[in-house]
Amino acid sequence: MKTSSIYTQNEEYRKLFGRKAYKVSLSANCTCPNRDGTLGAGGCAFCTGSGEFSESVGSVSQRIEAAALRVRSKLPAGQQGNGNLPSLIAYFQDHTNTYAPSGCLKTVFDEAITHPLVCGMSVGTRPDCLPDDIVEMLSEYARVKPVWVELGLQTANDVIASSFGRGYPSSVYAEAAEKLRDHGIRVTTHLIIGLPGETPEQIFESVRFVNGKTDCVKFHMLHILKGTRYAEEYGKGLIATFSLPEYMRILTECIRWLDPGISVGRMTGDGYKRTLIAPKWSGDKKHVLNSLRNHFDKVGLRQGEYLTFHQR
Ligand code: SF4
Repeated sequence: MKTSSIYTQNEEYRKLFGRKAYKVSLSANCTCPNRDGTLGAGGCAFCTGSGEFSESVGSVSQRIEAAALRVRSKLPAGQQGNGNLPSLIAYFQDHTNTYAPSGCLKTVFDEAITHPLVCGMSVGTRPDCLPDDIVEMLSEYARVKPVWVELGLQTANDVIASSFGRGYPSSVYAEAAEKLRDHGIRVTTHLIIGLPGETPEQIFESVRFVNGKTDCVKFHMLHILKGTRYAEEYGKGLIATFSLPEYMRILTECIRWLDPGISVGRMTGDGYKRTLIAPKWSGDKKHVLNSLRNHFDKVGLRQGEYLTFHQR
């Protein structure tokens, strides 16, 4: 892949830390207002609410140390010495990790951010769950080590967002992103490609909407996962997922619309092998990434190239 044509989050990490950094998925043991009845009970239509990627056994420090050993065991043999433990990003991934009193969160976040193997912290949450005291607390951490807040916008189209039950308008995301960045906190925005009813042009509109508001974008293909509302609708033939060529065509266009100063943290979904119903092609992440590489090379993609002609 022509890495210079896409600004990846790995490059961003190398700039910040001078070396590769690895994410370790943790949990702040929060729920979600879209699941506990505050805003809704069923959650977003694509969400299992399981938090299946987060480390959940042991203390935060134990989980960080276990992850460091796992990462080190996968490094080339010459790089596995004790003195070469990897730099880790403490990633609070599942549910809404700021949906708790700040005092409770402080205990967990303090332990993560002060761990010597941790070079930065990333906190996944909703933009309507960022009260001032929590933003102030994250801002304090950001003075010591880089902090990202990951916001699951998924789309800037409020009609599509209502259809999957997001529970807030896109203006709330815009206000939260501005507040976070004003406090020295980096913003990562999640976008889903393939939401039912969303046209390719509406997907590109979401990319243009987040330009100037975020520091990183994670693109996900829509996954149909067992136990979700979309799984029921998919089973009845009411919704469909993209083929690999369709996904890559749209992803390519998204990246051409994305400001080249925004890093790309993800271009495929994760390997939800246990619960994945569709698309089956996404289960083979290696194949997807290789196909993306070939596609990008073939098209000569450059991140943000459309902005040069249309917006700059
Ligand atoms: S996707 Fe996020 S906001 Fe939506 S139900 Fe799941 S945890 Fe809650």
